[in-house]
Amino acid sequence: MHNHVCRVVELAGDSESSILGGSRWRPALCFSSFGLLALLAAANPQVSKAASPDYAAERAQMVRTIESYASDATLSLGRAHFTPEVLRIMGAVPRHEFVPDGVRQDAYADRPLPIGYGQTISQPLIVALMTDLLEVGPNDIVLEIGTGSGYQAAVVAGLVRQVCTIEIIPGLAVGAADRLQRLGYTNIAVRQGDGYYGWEDAAPFDAIIVTAAADHIPPPLLRQLKPGGRMVIPVGAPFALQHLVLVERDAEGRARTRQLLPVQFVPLSGRH
Ligand code: SAM
Repeated sequence: MHNHVCRVVELAGDSESSILGGSRWRPALCFSSFGLLALLAAANPQVSKAASPDYAAERAQMVRTIESYASDATLSLGRAHFTPEVLRIMGAVPRHEFVPDGVRQDAYADRPLPIGYGQTISQPLIVALMTDLLEVGPNDIVLEIGTGSGYQAAVVAGLVRQVCTIEIIPGLAVGAADRLQRLGYTNIAVRQGDGYYGWEDAAPFDAIIVTAAADHIPPPLLRQLKPGGRMVIPVGAPFALQHLVLVERDAEGRARTRQLLPVQFVPLSGRH
């Protein structure tokens, strides 16, 4: 299955959910993290309205903004810097291609943006942090739950061998698969369905990233994580305070969880 290339392979249900955002300006989009940092980011718009044609300047500024938060990410990352590989890939993936035309001029602002179906593309800072926490390598196979626009999958795909990503909303799954194919990503497979159950026939995974909040860690995802693997997942009650949680499975398969920082995501939806 590792040769799946950006295609939707399954159909099922519908959903309601959303993601990180981090500013008082958009409470409806739900999310906050890094506390004051997110508010500072929102209060300090760093993206010029006169965008350069390929958004290179805006993307570089976005990376500088992420870097500037590194020391504040120490408690989560255990170090006062993002890894250079993560910053490099954040500086390479064309985020403006993953957002609707109407919000393209804000594509590199450090906040979430609407992508239709009541969903959002995550704040760049959180994309970088969650990616970094996975500690992936070039031979890894990664599962993402919550494809959305496909942006987070594209970021991870630049660091690993294969990304398998599941989206519950059919329109988003099809849109992301088409977009990723058009942009030339050949190591991302998109499936439409309820990600709670993971992707059994592609498991086990070196890392799992979940981009919608669950009220518990889904047992199927834990089972599909390799010994030695890492999962990053927001956990908490819907529309209440949640925490970004790092799950590490040791060589014997035992899971250790660590709450990293408060966040607020819309719920992982579905009938599970
Ligand atoms: N990672 C995305 C990106 O880069 O654009 C953004 C993710 S968005 C905040 C959360 C996504 O999770 C939404 O697209 C939502 O439809 C999806 N979702 C919610 N519940 C889900 C489930 N049970 N299975 C799969 N996807 C789910």
